[in-house]
Amino acid sequence: MMCKSAEELQRFVDEAKDYAKFGKVAGYIPALGKADPNDLSVAIYYPDGTVVCAGDSKRKVTLQSISKIISLALVLMEYGEKVVFQKVGMEPTGDPFNSIAKLEETAPVKPLNPMINAGALAVTHMIDGHSTIERLNKLLTFIRRLAGNPTISYSKEVAQSEFETAFLNRSLCYFLKQHGIIDEDVEELMDLYTKQCAIEMTCLDLARIGLVFAMDGLDPLTGDRMMPLHIARICKTFMVTCGMYNASGEFAIKIGIPAKSGVSGGILGAVPGRFGIGIFGPALDEKGNSVTGIKLLELLSKTYSLSIF
Ligand code: GLU
Repeated sequence: MMCKSAEELQRFVDEAKDYAKFGKVAGYIPALGKADPNDLSVAIYYPDGTVVCAGDSKRKVTLQSISKIISLALVLMEYGEKVVFQKVGMEPTGDPFNSIAKLEETAPVKPLNPMINAGALAVTHMIDGHSTIERLNKLLTFIRRLAGNPTISYSKEVAQSEFETAFLNRSLCYFLKQHGIIDEDVEELMDLYTKQCAIEMTCLDLARIGLVFAMDGLDPLTGDRMMPLHIARICKTFMVTCGMYNASGEFAIKIGIPAKSGVSGGILGAVPGRFGIGIFGPALDEKGNSVTGIKLLELLSKTYSLSIF
């Protein structure tokens, strides 16, 4: 049984919306602070092309950390597992996403996984090209193909806002540079990374990308293979083990869906073989996950028995 009607989905949204009061919009990137904490929208994309939406599903959301799963898929396709996992590990961490603490504890230095900022910066560093624009375009081209939407771009306002205030991310970059994980100009990497995080799309686009992951890298609507099966599996495994920051364990127990969240309040979910889901609910809990988005997924998971476990 699946949720196939917009009215039914809207009822879940209405129930989840009540939880917005327990969250706050992200304040550390000034442009994200302008979001309305009471917004909640969702889209579900099924393999037969059916789409069910609720809330303002045309509203755009910046990817933020959701982009990390896509940049990872891109560099894995370009360089393979061996090269990528020389620079970044595969282990979850109980530390916050932007923590620098664990970096000093591994010898040789290696970010624990590609979902925390240190690991994501190492991954973005691997996207090659002659200029930031060329590198960004590589990522954008891939994202547009995944979403089946050639108009996807990035928000200049959000990118600029993060670029001006990303002091902690700069310090992670300098630490990684000192230890040879990255070897490019830190300002250039920050320029690319903040633009990557500011790539924006609707819940519908998010859901379509989630569907590709749910179908092991195959776009069921076009029949095109977007990424090899083993890479889709690696990405989904990271979604399960580290996709919801240091709340991934609790999320796996309560909801059990491979998912990746971002501090914009976006969540991309992939229910294997069943559907992709995109959510935007900017009120965040203390770990940086959308409170209303998590509530909504919890309600859907319980009602339709979506846990993969
Ligand atoms: N651009 C954000 C940062 O690096 C992304 C963080 C997130 O969504 O978790 O701080």
